[in-house]
Amino acid sequence: MFKLNLFNRPQRPEPEVLAHWGRNAECWCGSGKKYKNCHMAKDHPPK
Ligand SMILES: [Zn+2]
Repeated sequence: MFKLNLFNRPQRPEPEVLAHWGRNAECWCGSGKKYKNCHMAKDHPPK
């Protein structure tokens, strides 16, 4: 048996939460990486 993991995925926090997420804090996705090395570029794409 394999387990579907569809419901255990980390959800992206609200934009106002992301705006204050520390760049050196652990990423919200649970990867264990620093936010700046993980989802920061995806959450805040350069214009
Ligand atoms: Zn991440």
